Amino acid sequence: MKHNKEFLKRIFETIELSSLRMTQKRERILESLLALDRPVSASALRDLAGLPETDLVTVYRTLEAFEGIGIIQKIPLEEMGCLYELTETNDHYHHFVCRECHRTERLDLCLEDELGARAEKLGFTEVSHLMEVYGVCGECKPETD
Ligand SMILES: [Zn+2]
Ligand SMILES: [Zn+2]
Repeated sequence: MKHNKEFLKRIFETIELSSLRMTQKRERILESLLALDRPVSASALRDLAGLPETDLVTVYRTLEAFEGIGIIQKIPLEEMGCLYELTETNDHYHHFVCRECHRTERLDLCLEDELGARAEKLGFTEVSHLMEVYGVCGECKPETD
C-alpha cells in the first residue's frame, strides 16, 4: 500500500511536534522510508539511504528514535532480526509475515480486549503484546504438480 498525502502529512506533523532532532542522515533515512511501500530491514534501509556500512548504528538509532515518537512499527522475524515500517501514532495492528520472502500483509485482528480482561484477572497492569503471524505466501509456496 502506497502512503497517501494525509498519511505523509501526519508523519511530518508528528516529527515536528516531537523534540526529535533531524540530522541530515535522519532526513535521508526518513526519505527512504517514505519512498517504500513495504517493511524493510535496517541494513536494506541503510543501502537505500545511500549511507556507508559504518552508519548501520545510526540507522538503528534513528529507527529507535522514530519508534519512540510512534511513527515506526517493528516487525520481529521468526529468525533473527526485524523489519521496520512507517506507521501512524497509535495505529495498532499486526502482520502476516512470509518466512521465505518476508513479504508482509497487514492483519487487522487483535485480541487486546480479551488479553486485557485476562491480565486484569491475574493482576497484571501496563500490559502490551506482540502478535505476528508467520507462514509461507502464495508466491513462495512450492509447486504441488
Ligand atoms: Zn513469500
Ligand atoms: Zn494487538
